[in-house]
Amino acid sequence: MALIVQKYGGTSVANTERIKNVARRVADYHRRGDQVVVVVSAMSGVTDGLIKLAKEITPLPNERELDMLLATGEQQTIALTAMALHALGVPAVSLTGAQAGIVTDGVHTKARIRNITPKAVRELLESGAVVIVAGFQGETPEGQITTLGRGGSDLTAIAMAAALKADLCQIYTDVDGVYTADPRIVPTARKLDEISYDEMLELASLGAKVMQSRSVEFAKKFGVVFEVRSSLNDNPGTIVKEETKSMEGVVVRGVSLDKNQAKLTLVGVPDRPGVAARIFKALGDAAVNVDMIVQNISHGEGPPQTDLSFTVDKADLLKARKVIESLQPELGFREVLANENIGKLSIVGVGMKSHTGVAGKMFEVLAREGVNIDMISTSEIKISVVIDLARAEDAMRAVHAAFIG
Ligand code: ADP
Ligand code: ASP
Ligand code: MG
Repeated sequence: MALIVQKYGGTSVANTERIKNVARRVADYHRRGDQVVVVVSAMSGVTDGLIKLAKEITPLPNERELDMLLATGEQQTIALTAMALHALGVPAVSLTGAQAGIVTDGVHTKARIRNITPKAVRELLESGAVVIVAGFQGETPEGQITTLGRGGSDLTAIAMAAALKADLCQIYTDVDGVYTADPRIVPTARKLDEISYDEMLELASLGAKVMQSRSVEFAKKFGVVFEVRSSLNDNPGTIVKEETKSMEGVVVRGVSLDKNQAKLTLVGVPDRPGVAARIFKALGDAAVNVDMIVQNISHGEGPPQTDLSFTVDKADLLKARKVIESLQPELGFREVLANENIGKLSIVGVGMKSHTGVAGKMFEVLAREGVNIDMISTSEIKISVVIDLARAEDAMRAVHAAFIG
């Protein structure tokens, strides 16, 4: 008998047939004598639909109210999943994030989990029931409903597995596991049997939406080994765990493409100490995540000026722009340019630590494809470039072919 946390994403619960299919799998584990906690997402398209509704009312909806709205998506699925289990004769109880004891900070739309008190979950498991927990949501100590950022049901599952000290954590999705690249874009991508936390974390934060990056961060911190696998078949998936020696033999484990970034450029920023601090502090205070930053000092005539470019999530572009524009009178830069037509292409692998020439090879492939590089950033185990969105998928296939085959 094992305690298992299973998470089913949007496509795995996309309609009532799929929900019944999930219930059958859960019932099999339950009949075997396992204790099962099931975390579900909203049915596919529901969260996007709710965001669209909100934006029809106002382009920048109040974030507390947005959370109130978005949390309803998962609440539909937990009830339907519990009903589907009842129909199979399996006792099951659905719980919202708050009822499951998930306490978060108050940063609406991207709240962080502070702690989990899974008392209700444990009691229900002991009573023999399957517990269905709404993914993606929690509650502040003051009782405000929060959500955990897009893809946040992954985090709910990993955090639940950590809090319950589960024997197994399975993330069920619509692909057979983690691939060397998004199989929808790169048909030759291969499924990986295993991948290290650090590689998974980089791939996820660089656009591989198969796992929410914060959930991987959490798994690494608390040592939660998990498996990503398909809800549509019984194939073994990909195990995500601590790095082993043998993993270093592979230079590039995967390639990812983030099409959800936008670039802001501040033109003619006075070149004096404290300006960058002022800009990025203000963005941080507004909970805008900034990714790549590039600053070029102009060497022309007149007082020293710089151009400052950085990337943010497309979803934060409007907010970031407002923050920046509010600083204009104080800082006196010339103008702000926004570009949404960018893609961030990255290669990731722990083997890069011990191999040279990787960046050169990547840039050569891009040059051969006639793709211009706009920004570059690197870490020990990854190289990222910002390129034109229109060429990004071609570039991804070319880079995948060159490094992985
Ligand atoms: P879920 O709804 O189950 O959370 P997501 O849509 O969030 O599923 O994530 C699964 C999708 O992630 C896949 O359908 C695939 O297109 C995409 N994906 C992107 N990169 C990868 C990758 N490296 N490996 C597997 N899937 C990937
Ligand atoms: N429904 C939420 C989203 O679409 C959370 C999730 O699916 O993990 O982002
Ligand atoms: Mg997801």
